[in-house]
Amino acid sequence: MNSLNRLLNQQIRHNGPISISQFMEICLLHPQYGYYTSSSPFGQKGDFVTAPEVSQMFGELIGLFLAQAWSDQKNLGEAVFVELGPGRGTLAADIMRVTKSIKHFPKKIYLLEVSDKLKLLQKTNLEGYQVEWIENLNQIPPGPIILIANEFFDSLPINQYVKEADGWHERLIGIKDGKLAFGISEQKINIQSTDYFTQTVEGDIVEIRPSVEPIITEISNKISHWGGISLIIDYGSWNLKGNTFQAIKGHNFVNPLEKPGEVDLSAHVDFSALARNASNCLISKLTDQGVLLERLGITERAKILSKSLKADDLKNHVAAHRRLTHPKEMGTLFKVMAILPKLSQMPLGL
Ligand code: SAH
Repeated sequence: MNSLNRLLNQQIRHNGPISISQFMEICLLHPQYGYYTSSSPFGQKGDFVTAPEVSQMFGELIGLFLAQAWSDQKNLGEAVFVELGPGRGTLAADIMRVTKSIKHFPKKIYLLEVSDKLKLLQKTNLEGYQVEWIENLNQIPPGPIILIANEFFDSLPINQYVKEADGWHERLIGIKDGKLAFGISEQKINIQSTDYFTQTVEGDIVEIRPSVEPIITEISNKISHWGGISLIIDYGSWNLKGNTFQAIKGHNFVNPLEKPGEVDLSAHVDFSALARNASNCLISKLTDQGVLLERLGITERAKILSKSLKADDLKNHVAAHRRLTHPKEMGTLFKVMAILPKLSQMPLGL
């Protein structure tokens, strides 16, 4: 049993079962033993590889997409660039590099990051740029924003509810035979009942991510008032149903209750919940990552880059293109949604 497991056991014995969001928050963000705060999850040697870490093509195409979308708005205000959960800072660095000579693209970067360890990496990878770290979106000055969030929302804690004969009950984490185990709340829970939650049957599980509402409200208020664009990329779907709570260690799925703090915890993103909180804005169609990247010309870009590559480098480059776009890899599992001012034109690619 690791230190965090002992700590969770003590807390549950003392105060009773905890919600899944409490469990995720402790496991991911505990100052001493939290997954994001204490480990280095990215890369082949880590637990997972994100799109910007697969190839520079991802950030370059997204950067040009954002620059085009922003210039289409013909907004004369000075925008700032915002990234939520920037990881190693690779995506921001690729975006800033490719847009460097584009005059109207923001030069000031705001990063929302919780991990001090990752902040140091971001600082190194973004040397030479004007960067400010924030703890809350309301620390961004008034004005248009160009915001990106890749694999950020999936890491924000969720709660789960199960439909029983008498109504909704919450899935909780307690202790059984000395080990952390899932259970169901005795009490019935009143959950905010959206249309599709009412189309559920006994036994169905639904997930709610409490921090979506404050974050998206802040973003959509800024965009509807000042202009700009927000691009959200993640694994998930529209009107998501079922249990998607997952744990990853060393590129494999593992039991989320074993080795707390040592495994990555996440859940799929319900894009319809994001859109519901941005009704004052224009929302793009939910688009497959592979489709967007193809429309933005990834295959052409890949061919150009391949000309200077040989042997293993060329093999890795071809594999990276496939990884980002192929339906059996990240191509269809990952979705893209843009939030734009109402009445603006839909950017090329969406
Ligand atoms: N966008 C990056 C990393 C994705 S991993 C990439 O594509 O490579 C999730 C990122 O979100 C990490 O940087 C993690 O530290 C950060 N994060 C997770 N929960 C957070 C929270 N509550 N507030 C701010 N950042 C958070």
